[in-house]
Amino acid sequence: MIELDDLRKTYHLPGRDVVALAGVDLEVAPGEVYGVVGESGAGKSTLLRCVNLLERPDTGTVTVAGQELTSLRGEELRKARQQIGMIFQHFELLAQRTVAANVALPLELAGVKRRKRDLRVDELLDLVGLADKAAAYPAQLSGGQKQRVGIARALAAGPAVMLCDEATSALDPDTTRSILGLLRDITSRLGVTVLLITHEYEVVKSVCDSVALLKDGKVVEKGPIASLLSTP
Ligand code: ADP
Ligand code: ADP
Repeated sequence: MIELDDLRKTYHLPGRDVVALAGVDLEVAPGEVYGVVGESGAGKSTLLRCVNLLERPDTGTVTVAGQELTSLRGEELRKARQQIGMIFQHFELLAQRTVAANVALPLELAGVKRRKRDLRVDELLDLVGLADKAAAYPAQLSGGQKQRVGIARALAAGPAVMLCDEATSALDPDTTRSILGLLRDITSRLGVTVLLITHEYEVVKSVCDSVALLKDGKVVEKGPIASLLSTP
C-alpha cells in the first residue's frame, strides 16, 4: 500500500550538508499499522514528509495505493494526496473554526457539497466519540479530544493511508493509550493503512504490526513487531 524505494534526501546548509535520508526502502502492506522509530535527528520527519511529497526526495520513489507520487506534479499530485490523511503531534487544528468545521475542511477542499459534508462530519464525529463537541472550539478541548478531532479530519476524505507524526507525544500516558486504541480500532474497521513515526518504542510496541528502526537516515532493522520485541 505504501512503497518507498531508495529514498535519499540531503539538506544543504551553509558550509555543510546534512544527509537526512540515506537510501530508505520500506514496504507497508494494506491494512497494516507500521511504525518507524528512531532518535531525534534520525530522519523520521523527513521520511514522513516525503511520503506525501510535502518534501520532495532527491532521488527514489514513493508509491501509495498503486500510484507513484514522485512522478506527479501540480493538480495530479493534489488529487493523489486525497488518498493520504495525516495527524500531527500538536494537532494543527484551526482555532477559529469549530470542531465540525475543522473536520469538514478536507471535504470542502475536495468540493463536497454542503449537505453531504454535514452528514459525513456527523458520522466522523460519532466515530471518534465527539458528537457532543461539534460546536465547540479547539481551545475548549483536552489534548486527547483535540487528537480525536485530528483523526476525524484525517479520515474525512476517505483516505487509503494515514500518516501519524508523533501523534501521541504531546499526550499523557492514559490519553496516549486511549488515542492509540482508537486509532487502531478505527483504521482496522475502515481498512486504512497506517504509517506512524515516533521516538517512543512503547508506542510501537502497543500498536504496530511491523516496525522499522531508523538511524542516521538508514533503516538498520525492520520486520514484524514480534520478531523485534527483544530490541530495547
Ligand atoms: P527526526 O524527525 O528523526 O528528528 P528529521 O527528519 O527532523 O529527524 O531530521 C533529520 C536530519 O535532517 C537532522 O539532522 C535535521 O537537523 C535535518 N533537517 C531536517 N529538516 C531540515 C531542514 N528543513 N533543513 C535542514 N536540515 C534539516
Ligand atoms: P520534529 O519535532 O517534528 O522532529 P523538528 O524540530 O525536527 O520537528 O523540525 C521542525 C521544522 O524545522 C521542520 O520543518 C524541519 O524541516 C525543520 N528543521 C529541522 N531541523 C532543521 C535544521 N537543522 N535546519 C533547518 N530546519 C530544520
